[in-house]
Amino acid sequence: MQSSSGGLPLPQADELTQPYWDAATAHKLVLQRCSQCRLFRHPPAKICASCYSEESEWAEVEGRGTVYSYVIVYQPLLPAFQSRAPYDVVQVTPDGAPNVRLIGNLAEGEPRERLQVGSTVEVVFDDTSDGISIPRWRLT
Ligand SMILES: [Zn+2]
Repeated sequence: MQSSSGGLPLPQADELTQPYWDAATAHKLVLQRCSQCRLFRHPPAKICASCYSEESEWAEVEGRGTVYSYVIVYQPLLPAFQSRAPYDVVQVTPDGAPNVRLIGNLAEGEPRERLQVGSTVEVVFDDTSDGISIPRWRLT
């Protein structure tokens, strides 16, 4: 799918998150994983919170998951999001990475009335006209 950012702020990658956004542009969902103890780290971090290792790798995950929590935003904090309100923000636990909560939105046009804690979802990539692909979620 392709959309314009429509004046919305876009993700700003840094040295820690660049591999995540590069993979998203290739329509792959990857997570940083500790090379020592294999625990996923998200958001990406320089040091493992479990074993303190500084070694990490990027692992592709299947792109399916379960809604851990969600909110419907009626009064956005940032004025740029006012035109989109009300909109959803979901926390998704990806299959295979039970310690991770990915924060995002349902894909455009998804039936929000079906959204609930425990809903199963799969990732889709929203290709913006700015050349950035944003992972979003489709209800399954
Ligand atoms: Zn570790």
